Amino acid sequence: KDFRNNVKPNWCPGCGDFSVQAAIQRAAANVGIEPHELAVISGIGCSGRISGYINSYGFHGIHGRALPIAQGLKMANRNLNVIASGGDGDGFAIGMGHTIHGLRRNLDLTYIIMDNQIYGLTKGQTSPRSAAGFVTKSTPGGAIEPDVKPLELALSTGATFVAQGFSTDIKELTAIIEAGIQHKGFSFINVFSPCVTYNKVNTYDWFKENLTKLSDIEGYDPTNREAAMNTVMQHDGLVTGIIYHDTETPCYQSKADRFDEQALVGQELMMGETKFNELVKEFM
Ligand code: SF4
Repeated sequence: KDFRNNVKPNWCPGCGDFSVQAAIQRAAANVGIEPHELAVISGIGCSGRISGYINSYGFHGIHGRALPIAQGLKMANRNLNVIASGGDGDGFAIGMGHTIHGLRRNLDLTYIIMDNQIYGLTKGQTSPRSAAGFVTKSTPGGAIEPDVKPLELALSTGATFVAQGFSTDIKELTAIIEAGIQHKGFSFINVFSPCVTYNKVNTYDWFKENLTKLSDIEGYDPTNREAAMNTVMQHDGLVTGIIYHDTETPCYQSKADRFDEQALVGQELMMGETKFNELVKEFM
């Protein structure tokens, strides 16, 4: 089960996205799936290239639309493990509506945000994850708006799996992604993935100084949503690990009759009483 392919990523040397790619590849291998059982769907941005760098099915979609494509794919073929991925601009700006509805819908897929708190592909503009005061060429006087809080957003929108990783800690990130793939529902994983070229504030060293691992907090209980929210707010979102995990709430597919019986791709397409294949034969 080798999820590496021979495509050389064209990310800048040192970009956090390399480690996210490696963690996805390791996690997929560790959970025991085959490359043909995985599809990686991405949006637009530096991180959006990831779907081409993994030996699996892949689709490099359009900006902010990784989730609609991934959800459609999962609904059509529930047998596939589906990972959607993209940057913070992709998921929290143009794609924010899809993110919120994905979180509350709880379809069985994994969404990995590669959060570098800036727009890297377009050469360094303020993103929805840039902190207030953040200076870039698009906000030379400093960002006026506060940043989006991914974990608080996910927890308050009813997400059943909420986690956060740091790209340098591949061991923890791999374990998080493994748990996300295995979770029966929508797994939301925000990953701090530094942009070494344009973000000179949220650097590797900055994260190392400011992040707290949940595994170091004595008695932390990831099944308690309220406690999870309190911990996240106390640490201003700068925690890593599995923040919240609800194993009770059924996923979307298990509540919708047709999905558990047979994947749509395996169903006979009918036009009234007639099989679609029979109908089109006369035109062939
Ligand atoms: Fe990574 Fe930033 Fe380079 Fe894009 S511009 S590849 S996010 S380091």
